[in-house]
Amino acid sequence: MPLQRPAASNMPGSAPAATPEIPPFADCPRSQYATGHQDWYMISGPQQFPNFDICLTCFDTSIKPTAYARFFSRSPPKPETMATQCDFSNLWVHIAWVWLFSQSAPDASLLGMIAAIQVPEGPCPNSQAEQAGEKPTATRRWFCLPNPRTGALIEDLTICSHCIAHIETILPPMRGVFGAAAGGASCPATCDLMVPNSQRSLSYIDQIVEVAERTLKTGYLDLTPAAEYIEKYALLPECPKNNTVKNVGCYSMPSSVPEFTVCQECYTEVILSEVRNEAPLARQVSTAPSIPPDGFSCQLYSPRTRQFWQDSLTTGDAGLLRQKVTERKQKQMELTQKADQLTLTYHQQKMQAKYHNEMMLIEASTAMHSALTWQATTGVIRPTDFTAVNASRNQGSQMEVQAAVTLSQIQMIENEWKNFWE
Ligand SMILES: [Zn+2]
Ligand SMILES: [Zn+2]
Ligand SMILES: [Zn+2]
Repeated sequence: MPLQRPAASNMPGSAPAATPEIPPFADCPRSQYATGHQDWYMISGPQQFPNFDICLTCFDTSIKPTAYARFFSRSPPKPETMATQCDFSNLWVHIAWVWLFSQSAPDASLLGMIAAIQVPEGPCPNSQAEQAGEKPTATRRWFCLPNPRTGALIEDLTICSHCIAHIETILPPMRGVFGAAAGGASCPATCDLMVPNSQRSLSYIDQIVEVAERTLKTGYLDLTPAAEYIEKYALLPECPKNNTVKNVGCYSMPSSVPEFTVCQECYTEVILSEVRNEAPLARQVSTAPSIPPDGFSCQLYSPRTRQFWQDSLTTGDAGLLRQKVTERKQKQMELTQKADQLTLTYHQQKMQAKYHNEMMLIEASTAMHSALTWQATTGVIRPTDFTAVNASRNQGSQMEVQAAVTLSQIQMIENEWKNFWE
């Protein structure tokens, strides 16, 4: 589950969470529409949702170990030509599933209701996004959270009607809370929820879920924390993490640790309070973001680098921070270079395996043709000579084995980065 939620016991005035443990979400193998599968599960009680399709992997991983499993059963066979997608791979369904547990819902009907949602303006424009972080612009009605201090809508965060319908279905306390921007008129904007691979998008959803949870606990709708979060972050570009971005401003420590480049989001989250406390190390950080000509990647998104920053802050030692940041950068370059080289080798090995497999088919056809021609011209049947076919098959299999070894080497490098350096 990518959704990040603080423990309920951290919420002001709340009792420790009594939510039963939720099994993990699987990496769903049927998240795209495809034909040819007959082994689906559906919601069968108390209300039937025969069009809510769940693949075996998702059912076995997430649903079977829970008390809700009794509301699901195998679906009747589908027509051979019907393309089907696993509805349990949808992020809104994940959010609804977690909500069911947190509210001890009596059954799983909410999931079927979520999958059936349709709005006149069509799906969220982000469903058309082709890459991570992309938010396609669309002209339609938009909704915003009101600022509880002023009552005005916070228009820095816009949400489409499709996402609003999901929020209001999953989280009853949020019904009617969002206001229509531009007086309800259609206008061009982007949806800030359901952005592919966006941590920020998940954080916004978390904020909204927390408002709903607090409202149910206290009986009082308090939008202040969510509004403050949106006002603090909505105008800042999302942290690029390890990816190099251009034409985006970043902070650094130009005189002492120039390698330490920090995005505006991480600066606001980690460094800003230390600047206000006038910590000596924080005073060395640039006072305004600047745009490096070759772009930058953020150094401060990882918990490891945040710990380096914290250690250096305690000792006031910028040299320690520089040493750690430089070591990490060098290792990153070294591992990236190795992984790039191995990826190239892997693609070459896969291409060679494909070539040998294609050759094997051609050799088989030639061998059969040659045997038949011999038989037709001499009237004598002789065994088909599969020597060349077997040679190509062996070469193809050897290449597949080598490619698998290369892939495992790439994975080892990725693990080394994640476990010891990132
Ligand atoms: Zn699935
Ligand atoms: Zn949306
Ligand atoms: Zn960052």
